[in-house]
Amino acid sequence: MYDAIVVGARCAGSPTSMLLARKGYRVLLVDKATFPSDTISTHILWPHGAEVLGRWGLSSELESTGVPPICRRMSFDVGPFALRGTIPGANGGRGGFCPRRKVLDGILLNAAAASGTEVREAFTVERLLFDGDTVVGIRGRQRDGATIEERARIVIGADGVAPSSRNRPERWNTTVARSPRVAITRTSATSSRTTSSCTCASTARSAGLRRTTTFIW
Ligand SMILES: Cc1cc2nc3c(=O)[nH]c(=O)nc-3n(C[C@H](O)[C@H](O)[C@H](O)COP(=O)(O)OP(=O)(O)OC[C@H]3O[C@@H](n4cnc5c(N)ncnc54)[C@H](O)[C@@H]3O)c2cc1C
Repeated sequence: MYDAIVVGARCAGSPTSMLLARKGYRVLLVDKATFPSDTISTHILWPHGAEVLGRWGLSSELESTGVPPICRRMSFDVGPFALRGTIPGANGGRGGFCPRRKVLDGILLNAAAASGTEVREAFTVERLLFDGDTVVGIRGRQRDGATIEERARIVIGADGVAPSSRNRPERWNTTVARSPRVAITRTSATSSRTTSSCTCASTARSAGLRRTTTFIW
């Protein structure tokens, strides 16, 4: 029995797991992917996101990969005129970065593991387990094909944007209002501000965390 199971181990799931584990919770983090691996995304980590990474103690690890800073001075050219400037007050003026997700997600996953999170890669969640209307765990297939069930006090969906995925657990998006004990996030990256990271941050807040990630654009 875990305190929390987090499904999805990229920029939403890994920091959520890390922060929970740093608070002493017993956390299981699963992902159907193996790491390091890429995912569809451009790679702008804005200065505010870089600042959060610093707060988590992960900036130097990212910088040591040789990824150059960006966004120290920006230009938004609309044709007849251009807006030029900086993002004031963010990351001490040191800008953001442009790491491949293979790099960034690997750092975040390692940080989750280092914080005491149990990580299982190549683990595909196929079903949520219910006790009445309450989500109490997951059923999934692990690397060797075996079906495994795990239970937790809270199950957090950080599984990104995959509404048509055959592997998306049924009822995944319908559970929030049903049980105060459960935080299943509906993840979406269709609008500029409603990213899955953002959704997961609010979930984590409801789990007692002040903030998780600002890798949002
Ligand atoms: C074209 C494009 C460009 C973008 N550019 C930027 C950018 O420049 N800067 C920026 O900040 N954001 C950008 N974004 C948005 C950013 O990619 C997303 O906000 C971010 O990837 C969301 O992270 P996440 O951890 O929520 O989900 P994801 O990165 O999608 O990770 C979800 C994880 O869940 C796992 N998973 C899914 N289903 C299951 C299951 N059933 N069982 C187990 N594991 C599962 C997946 O394997 C995956 O690893 C871009 C997005 C797109 C599509």
